[in-house]
Amino acid sequence: MTGSGVRAVVVTVGEELLSGATVDGNAAWLGRALAGLGIPVDHRLTVGDRDDDIVRAVRTSLDRAPVVLVTGGLGPTADDRTRPAVARALGVDLVEDPLLVERLRERLRAAGRGAPTPGLRRLALRPTAGRALPNPAGAAPGLVFDAGSPDAPGRVVLLPGVPREMRALFPAVAQELRAVFGDRLRPVVNRVIHTTGIPESELAPRVDRALADAAAEVEVAFLPDLTGVDLRLTTAVEPPGDEGARERAAARLDGAEAALASVLDGVRFEAASGDLVETVAGLLEGRGWWLATAESCTGGLLAQRWTARAGASRTFRGGVVAYANEVKEGWLGVPAAVLEAQGAVSEAVAVAMATGACQALDAECGVGITGVAGPGGGTPDKPVGTVWIAVSVPGPGGGRRTEAFRGQYPGDREAVRVMAAQAALHRLFRMLAAPSEEAGS
Ligand code: ATP
Ligand code: MG
Repeated sequence: MTGSGVRAVVVTVGEELLSGATVDGNAAWLGRALAGLGIPVDHRLTVGDRDDDIVRAVRTSLDRAPVVLVTGGLGPTADDRTRPAVARALGVDLVEDPLLVERLRERLRAAGRGAPTPGLRRLALRPTAGRALPNPAGAAPGLVFDAGSPDAPGRVVLLPGVPREMRALFPAVAQELRAVFGDRLRPVVNRVIHTTGIPESELAPRVDRALADAAAEVEVAFLPDLTGVDLRLTTAVEPPGDEGARERAAARLDGAEAALASVLDGVRFEAASGDLVETVAGLLEGRGWWLATAESCTGGLLAQRWTARAGASRTFRGGVVAYANEVKEGWLGVPAAVLEAQGAVSEAVAVAMATGACQALDAECGVGITGVAGPGGGTPDKPVGTVWIAVSVPGPGGGRRTEAFRGQYPGDREAVRVMAAQAALHRLFRMLAAPSEEAGS
């Protein structure tokens, strides 16, 4: 028996959220936490610290969904309006709870402070129809207000605005919601697949086609950034609590993943961190090879990313930020004649930088990056965003295998630099991952 799922509305309270002084991290966190619990968030509202607005927000929210989570405005100060406003919205009384008063006194004693002020005593109020949730991380308890009817129960849960306290209270909230809505929870499982080197606009239709009949019950979301596109596959665990349900959900994700294999060939990488550096560093370490970088327009970005990861000393020899032509010549041995004839942004220079880095820094593998990051410096031949990238690795028979390509990256200076560094890494990844297939090319 599955029945229909239960959904939630999240209401965040605070002038600072409306003005933008504080980013609404609570709503984002609750969205993830509730989805994990099996109660997807249907809607979000943010209001200031005004009674009428809070009252209206709670009433509209309950019209939409039986679970309403409210954060913020539970403190002892005059601008903390949430507790009485929610009570008013629901027509529920607040009473002082002797246990909460005692907890409060204990906290104050432990802090070397006197008896609670009237303001502080408000922290000991709880709804007559509902209960308090002890706050392991602060003074203000969470509050559960019963709503709805026995046939169609609802819950309005108030949590402190301080993110750390809100998170600390969530396990108690989850327990309450499981007890009330247990058989209507719809937990889901996710799997993230990392890709790089293929734009979302190309990837999405191929993925949708591949999944069309293979996995009707698997939803896919595309999460792009400058370094690539993550695919998030999601499927429901149904019925919840059933022994085999998790296994069946995992099997559906396996099926979807298998259906995507050919689409993802050459663009997928596996890395717990989501960073392709992790994958490529693992491949280098497996072979006992070292990397050296020679970067012009990326200014050391690739070296920076590589060394940001612990254990970089096992794979990274070093890098040269070869900005001026003299540095390309003097440190990397790029011939002056080539720089003169081809220009600094050229295939020959990128190749000379990659192989020069291998020699100068005594590494098996080298990367050379030279381009026009902008906003100035573009020409009709080499507009802003033009980048030549070369990657050199040991080849068959003791020789070298060097590949170069020209990228054209859209966006501002930052975007061009990030995409160029990623493209270099991607090429290195492919050359290391498929040594035989492309050998000799
Ligand atoms: P306090 O007892 O500290 O007054 P409170 O429950 O009244 O707690 P607020 O006063 O609304 O909560 O906020 C306390 C702190 O938590 C503030 O620094 C605020 O910026 C932060 N905060 C409140 N709401 C959010 C939110 N939705 N996302 C992230 N931070 C938040
Ligand atoms: Mg406050």
